[in-house]
Amino acid sequence: MKKSVVLALLGLVASPAFTQSPDSLLIRRVYNEILSHGKSYDWLRQLTKGVGPRLAGSEGSKKAVDWAKKTMEAEGFDRVFLQDVKVPHWVRGAKEKATIRSSSQKIDVPIAALGGSVATPAQGITAGVIEVKNFPELRALGRDKVAGKIVFFNRPMDPTKLNTFEAYAGAVDQRAAGATEAAKLGAVGAIVRSMNPSLDDFPHTGGLRYGTGVALIPAAAISTNGAERLSALLRQNPALTFYFKQSCETLDDAASHNVVAEIKGSETPEQLIVVGGHLDSWDLAEGAHDDGAGCVQAIEVLRTLKALGIRPRHTIRAVLFANEENGLRGGVQYADLAKKNGEIHRYAIESDNGGFVPRGFGIVGTDAQVTALQRFAPLLAPYGLYEIGRGSGGADIGPLAPLGTVLIGYKPDSQRYFDYHHAANDNFEAVSERELKLGAASMTALVVLLDGMGQ
Ligand SMILES: [Zn+2]
Repeated sequence: MKKSVVLALLGLVASPAFTQSPDSLLIRRVYNEILSHGKSYDWLRQLTKGVGPRLAGSEGSKKAVDWAKKTMEAEGFDRVFLQDVKVPHWVRGAKEKATIRSSSQKIDVPIAALGGSVATPAQGITAGVIEVKNFPELRALGRDKVAGKIVFFNRPMDPTKLNTFEAYAGAVDQRAAGATEAAKLGAVGAIVRSMNPSLDDFPHTGGLRYGTGVALIPAAAISTNGAERLSALLRQNPALTFYFKQSCETLDDAASHNVVAEIKGSETPEQLIVVGGHLDSWDLAEGAHDDGAGCVQAIEVLRTLKALGIRPRHTIRAVLFANEENGLRGGVQYADLAKKNGEIHRYAIESDNGGFVPRGFGIVGTDAQVTALQRFAPLLAPYGLYEIGRGSGGADIGPLAPLGTVLIGYKPDSQRYFDYHHAANDNFEAVSERELKLGAASMTALVVLLDGMGQ
């Protein structure tokens, strides 16, 4: 055997096509820079440990805007600016209380008010409980059985779905609309099993939507262990009662901002490629996976281009959106301004699926646009990015769709995301430095390819 063949078989010589591609060389440089000198993990520490929870309208949310602006300015990007956004201002108030009362037993269970919920009366609510798995089952029970009761929605996320976002989508109607469906039949409260595929003691909050013309009843998430306990006790004693108390309220809208940084394009500066995440988080934790990770990865994309001395052809923007969690006002405002200013947004990439190990990108666009992006697959596969195809873009970039923007969602592995999502354990410690940086490198690599920087 020839020496070159032996070396090739040993993997010591890469194929000529791979080594000679300017794109592949540039992507290698991107990964080297981020994995050796990346700042995303340090920034995440600052945003989570230094700023902390940052729900729209909160003090934390103001601090986060200041932190993001200063951090971007310190990197010396071409332009850093704020966009004004009016956001809803909901506050949780005192920590909630919940107790199952069955015969002589009193069992406390962990709950958290759903975002946007009304409070209970000051003394709390005590009522019998009706457990259901879905809305048709609830409606079949009818007003006779439901009026005056607390409706307990207890349909778990489907464990057979390999992508946990699909399981989430199949269960989250209970959280979003459970209170309204229960109120239509005269219920006095709604308790919803947490959107969490695992069994633990963390209640997972999240937004609800009240329907118009229906009584507003208080609603809370119960931890998955709490839900199992309540369900088991109901089987033993259907006449048990449930007590819960929460003091949340909705205040007047507050002033907030999208935080934006950009590097000007050298050839077509009027055409934009956006990378982003949302700066707000739920109030129960530091918002590390959701979505501190996406924010610091977006800033890292710009930092890396600058560190490598790359001048992009298009203008590259990092956008940290306000208020994704309970209003989406930041994303809507961003798209409104883009339209008003006649900006051409070619591509928008959002990272809002956690800081986990990379898997690929989900694309929202025409068949031709999806196919065009799939031509990058061989360049991205060596970095573990195998899933390049149709998917969901991201909530904040969604409003750009009518402008013809191709929407791209960064897809990390989904298996552990909902263990942390909207719960008190979504903290800095839950994020792997390595995985976070690989995510930032994945996004930067795609930006480099979309821009044509390596050509
Ligand atoms: Zn999010």
